[in-house]
Amino acid sequence: MLIFAVSACPASKKVDDIIINEVKQEEKQIEINYANEEFLGVLIRFDYINNIGRNVVTYDLIEPERNQYYKDLIKSEMKRYPDGFFVKQNLKTISIVQNLDVAGKGRLGGTYIYDHNIIFININYMSDDYFIRALHHEIQHLVDYRYFDRYFIEWAQWRELFEASDKSTHSGFISDYARLNPKEDRAEVFGHYMGLERTKNNFLQKAKNDEIFYQKAILLFTFYKERVDFNLLDDFLLEMNH
Ligand SMILES: [Zn+2]
Repeated sequence: MLIFAVSACPASKKVDDIIINEVKQEEKQIEINYANEEFLGVLIRFDYINNIGRNVVTYDLIEPERNQYYKDLIKSEMKRYPDGFFVKQNLKTISIVQNLDVAGKGRLGGTYIYDHNIIFININYMSDDYFIRALHHEIQHLVDYRYFDRYFIEWAQWRELFEASDKSTHSGFISDYARLNPKEDRAEVFGHYMGLERTKNNFLQKAKNDEIFYQKAILLFTFYKERVDFNLLDDFLLEMNH
């Protein structure tokens, strides 16, 4: 990888060789970057991001032949958001990787690194359903950061519903992971609602049979309608009446 390791003993290398190596390195870089694309103001990328502390986030590149597939999937999901959403939320990059590890812990889904405005999505062992849920889950963290974390605001109404939920019976929780804390809980609510048909149907069934979960959905979607300019509430209420 590091062709310029030759500079340790420059006298042994002819200038021509070094120039040829520089050109090769540049061509390789272009080849890797070819799949990257800016879409709705966000750079979708597949290559290494050097300015993220590599001790905090580590990952491997995905096989290039899979780039297009995942890029199309990401783009079709991004199109479901209102115009200007990603610019307004200040998301700069979505990076699709494998073997994602954050601070020494492997991540099945993804992670949102707020100080770099970047979402990583891990593809290991993932079905499309899981991949899509992971993307929307991380987008909820992005929204959360913008409206709450940044100003150190606690969402008291959410915490009340979280505390009224039951970790052993799953009453109020859409998934195991949702039980972790209020923030993961709402990321799971949002991620599941935005999921594929089966996931979405499970969500609606749960909302019909679980009062606390229903209240969470209403609270989150009202917030989206009033504060984020993304109206999920009206659709949800219609779906509940079917
Ligand atoms: Zn999360």
